[in-house]
Amino acid sequence: MKPTLANVKLNNGLPYQARKRFGQNFLHDQNIVDKIVEQIKPKNNQHLVEIGPGQGALTKPLASSGAKLDCIELDRDLAKYLDKEFSEAERVSVVQQDVLRFDLSTLTDTEKSLRIIGNLPYNISTPVIFHLLKSHRLICDMIFMLQLEVVQRLVATPGGKNYGRLGLMVQYFCEVQHLFNVPSSAFTPKPKVVSAIVRLKPHSDFPLEAKDPECLQTVIRTAFNQRRKTLKNSLRTIISKKVLNELPIDAGLRPEKLSLADYVLISDAISK
Ligand code: SAM
Repeated sequence: MKPTLANVKLNNGLPYQARKRFGQNFLHDQNIVDKIVEQIKPKNNQHLVEIGPGQGALTKPLASSGAKLDCIELDRDLAKYLDKEFSEAERVSVVQQDVLRFDLSTLTDTEKSLRIIGNLPYNISTPVIFHLLKSHRLICDMIFMLQLEVVQRLVATPGGKNYGRLGLMVQYFCEVQHLFNVPSSAFTPKPKVVSAIVRLKPHSDFPLEAKDPECLQTVIRTAFNQRRKTLKNSLRTIISKKVLNELPIDAGLRPEKLSLADYVLISDAISK
């Protein structure tokens, strides 16, 4: 049965209403679904993880590839509905859980084996990405639907207004590719923003490697907390003027002018 808002029934028999608090905007445009699946190219020997399967718009074509598919859905009603829908599909399992509390290492310990897919709930997309990056070694790639504005931040380069903590940290861990945009008319209910599909592929060999990625994260967060200040002022609490001045970096610049390589240099200068 094709899932629609009308045919998902709750325990009390009433039709399902999209829940705003769960960031629910369901994809109904089959052309967009096909375009996304074409980018994913799922194979039966792969291990896929879908975040927020909702009513199964992407789940169905992913499951029919024959791949092993683990779905993580927070909404109890939808998780129950999907569990029933896929009860015959041996390689599909649905877990009712908050993805932010889900530990990918419970699924595998094989490096680069997981392909993560999701039309992410936009209200938590940044925390979800940071959470998944903690398990970057287990991930082969991630294909996400996000707000276009977030994708623009993910691919941003130094100097622009979109450049900041999110793009820098994601680019540290992954190669980022903006694939295509999706109009709001592809969803029910319609979101207020344009969306986009992005592919994040964790590096096998890091082009830049910080001694301590957590320290790098702190440096970047501290710098961008005070975006309008110069680096020497915003980083005053975590690096001495003397150490900063010894680096081949102009500390009189604002944080958005520095490259990822510059931030790695700063981080390494204060890492133990
Ligand atoms: N994949 C479906 C589609 O494309 O039509 C639904 C996408 S909808 C934008 C986001 C989905 O994520 C919803 O099904 C929502 O219930 C689920 N969700 C929201 N917060 C979640 C969380 N913390 N963990 C897991 N799933 C969540």
